[in-house]
Amino acid sequence: MNSPWIRAQLRQLLAQRGHAWLLHGPSGLGQYNLALALAQAWLCDRPTDDGACGQCDSCHQVGSRAHTDLAVLMPETIMMELGWPLSEKAQADIDDKKRKPSREIRVDAMRDVLEFAQRTSGRGRGKVVMVYPAERMNAITANTLLKTLEEPPGDTRFVLATEAAHQLLPTIRSRCLAHTLVWPDTAESVAWLQEQGVPAAAAPALLKAAGGRPEDALRLHASGLDARTWSQWPKALARGDTAGLPDWSPTQFVEALQKLCHDLLAQRSGAVPRFFDTADLPAAASATALTAWWRSLAETSRTVEHPFNAGLMLEDLVAQARTALNSK
Ligand SMILES: [Zn+2]
Repeated sequence: MNSPWIRAQLRQLLAQRGHAWLLHGPSGLGQYNLALALAQAWLCDRPTDDGACGQCDSCHQVGSRAHTDLAVLMPETIMMELGWPLSEKAQADIDDKKRKPSREIRVDAMRDVLEFAQRTSGRGRGKVVMVYPAERMNAITANTLLKTLEEPPGDTRFVLATEAAHQLLPTIRSRCLAHTLVWPDTAESVAWLQEQGVPAAAAPALLKAAGGRPEDALRLHASGLDARTWSQWPKALARGDTAGLPDWSPTQFVEALQKLCHDLLAQRSGAVPRFFDTADLPAAASATALTAWWRSLAETSRTVEHPFNAGLMLEDLVAQARTALNSK
């Protein structure tokens, strides 16, 4: 069941006409869930103003990730994470270790979608192409999609979802109706987190750790983070003590470091920290050291999914953090 704010936005989108939507906004606001709910409603045999029925054959096919009239274009890494099947060829290549799962939306996948768009709808309710995260299309893939958007085969609708709309070709943006994801308020988000099984005492702190983005907060909870560990982490890190942290991936670890560095820089400039409580932050470090740390983390975050040696990289990151945190 989607959150109340996603359901409200779905009603709003379904009340409008449009064969191509671009759902955009910062991460953690539910782009993927909204895009999937919209696709499911478009394909549903008995849709209502509130969305898909959830009961019909079409809904079951979407639920089992095997709808003949739904094509999803996602990076392979994200498809695997979200339980979508890869094409037979792609799965075989990855199983045979010919290559790693792609972090981009592949040109091959786009070609399959072009073929899909030319086919007749299997269930007679039209077809849907869903693209997420749309900013992961490279120039070739994006241009191919653009051609389809310019001359859409009659019964195909598109929903693109992105967390970085500025990285999309302007020509793609201009071919779509745009919808900005709604930012839910704190009370609504905390209530929803509790419904998802986050303990009441931890929900506000995890929401803060996620910068106010409820879906990110839920992911932090699922990754094993508790409110106490998060609040104690900055000072422990300054001492070089990383015991007690959840077993995060390098990506998650770098994100957490970026949040800490952000808050320390904010504090230095007199702004209110966003992810931590002021009391949890170590004493002010040097602005020069923090700025250098910020740049270095930005650099690391671009390559972090394929570290040469993950253990060594984490050690380096901790050492670097200690230096910055203890600078005067
Ligand atoms: Zn249905």
